[in-house]
Amino acid sequence: MSLDGTYDAGNIFAKILRGEAPSVRVFEDEHVMAFMDVFPQARGHTLVIPKHSTARNFLEEEPRVIGPLMLGVQRVARAVRAALEPDGLVITQFNGAASGQTVYHLHFHIIPRWEGQPLKGHGVGGMADMDELKTLAAQIAAKIS
Ligand code: AMP
Repeated sequence: MSLDGTYDAGNIFAKILRGEAPSVRVFEDEHVMAFMDVFPQARGHTLVIPKHSTARNFLEEEPRVIGPLMLGVQRVARAVRAALEPDGLVITQFNGAASGQTVYHLHFHIIPRWEGQPLKGHGVGGMADMDELKTLAAQIAAKIS
């Protein structure tokens, strides 16, 4: 699957949205859901996805979804900053396999960065400890405003 293709309602994020697969939830409103990345590139790596979407990537997304989605990304990124006090944050998004995309439901990555701490590779880090993810999610959720 790459830039062109059909939305697969069986993708893991669609399952998370339907409650068919587990996730460590950070935040949810009418438009977006945020949860912890289980293969984090850094401590606090959080994903934000649109709830009402069958776009596999940013290029396919309907304009009416983009505004609320980006507001959600900013809201969660501010909470990540407030909770974890990183030195910087990467906000990124991949389109197509050649770019590194592995899950074909549009999503944004929020990745805190600390000086002197190298970023783990995209999709190559190990699975996070679930208890640690739950603690981080609670810390971030407490800072959503
Ligand atoms: P991308 O490669 O941009 O499509 O990003 C997909 C991201 O989803 C990767 O960073 C994965 O670590 C993450 N991921 C895959 N499966 C899950 C899952 N079940 N829960 C949370 N994050 C996941």
